[in-house]
Amino acid sequence: MIVVMNPEASEKDIKMVTEKLKSMGFGVHLSQGVRRTIIGAIGDREKALSSGLEAMHCVEKIVPITKPFKLVSREFKRENSVYDIGGVQVGGDELVVMAGPCAVESREQLLQAARQVAGSGAKFLRGGAFKPRTSPYSFQGLEEEGLKMLAEAREETGLKIVTEVMNQHTVDMVAAYADILQVGARSMQNFYLLREIGRLNKPVLLKRGLSATIEEWLMAAEYIMSEGNYRVILCERGIRTFETYTRNTLDLSCVPVIKRLSHLPVLVDPSHGTGSWHWVPAMSRAALAAGADGLLVEVHPNPAEALSDGPQSLNPENFTNLMASLRSLAPALGRSL
Ligand code: PEP
Ligand code: MN
Repeated sequence: MIVVMNPEASEKDIKMVTEKLKSMGFGVHLSQGVRRTIIGAIGDREKALSSGLEAMHCVEKIVPITKPFKLVSREFKRENSVYDIGGVQVGGDELVVMAGPCAVESREQLLQAARQVAGSGAKFLRGGAFKPRTSPYSFQGLEEEGLKMLAEAREETGLKIVTEVMNQHTVDMVAAYADILQVGARSMQNFYLLREIGRLNKPVLLKRGLSATIEEWLMAAEYIMSEGNYRVILCERGIRTFETYTRNTLDLSCVPVIKRLSHLPVLVDPSHGTGSWHWVPAMSRAALAAGADGLLVEVHPNPAEALSDGPQSLNPENFTNLMASLRSLAPALGRSL
C-alpha cells in the first residue's frame, strides 16, 4: 500500500511515519514527487489500516496497491520515471538510442563502432563482454578485457556504456565499468542476480524473458526495486511465438500496456526482436510510435564478419539513415532526438 503524505508534510513528519512503518515490520520505499511525498509500504495491509496512521495530520490517505507489482506500478508513482545517467535523460521527452555491436570482439572493432554510432547521434554504446550464447562452442565474450575496451570507448567518444551482467558473481566487476547494467532475456528470472543488482546504485536495463508475460517481467523489475535500486529500464526484445520468418515476435503492444501499468521507462530492441537488419528500421519507427522511450540497436562496422548476431546488425550507413528518419519522426510524436 502507499501512504500519501500531505503536501505540507515536513521532513520530520516523513521520518516519523517512515520509522513507525519500519517498527511495524514494513519494507519502506520513499518516492519524492513534485508536490508531495508518497511512502510505499510493503507488508500486511490490515496492520497498516489499524495503525492509526491515517489519523495523523501529515498523512492524507492510505491507498492499497491492487497489483502484485508494487514499486513498479503507476499506483505507486503516477509520473513517468526519468533518470539522469551521466547527463543523458532516459524516460524524458528526449528519445534515447543505445547502439553498438552485439559483442565486444576487439579493440579496433569496438572503437570503430563507437565512433560510428556516436557520429550518428547515439548516446549509449552497447556491447556484450559476457555473452549468453545458445551453443557452448560459440564466442562467449572477452570478459574483463572487453569491459576495459568499453571504458576506453567511453573515454574517447563520451558515449555511456550499457553491457550485460550474467551472474551474481560478476556484478561488482561489470558495475565498475558500466553506466547501465543489462540483464539479458535469459536471465530475467535469475532471482539471485536480480537481488544482487538491487543492492547497487546503478541503472539497470531489464530485458523481457524469451517467454515472459508482462506481469512476470514487471515482477522481475520489482525484485530489483524491492532491494532499493529504483532505476530500472524495461526493454522489449521479442518473445517466442510459432512464427519463423522473424527470430522472435516483437511485441510492441506491450509498450502502451506497460505505460499504463508502470512508471518505468521502456526501450525496444528491434534487432533481437526481428533477427534481421532488414526489419530493424521499420520496427524502430513503430516502437517509437507505440510510445517507447528509445531503442537498443545492434550496429557492427562489418556485419558480415560479426562473431555474433551479424544478420540482425545494421551497418554504419544504414544506422545513420535510420537515425535521420527517427529525427524527422520524433516531432510528430511530441519527442525530440
Ligand atoms: C544482446 O543484447 O546482445 C542479447 C543477448 O540480448 P537478449 O538477452 O535480449 O537475447
Ligand atoms: Mn545480440
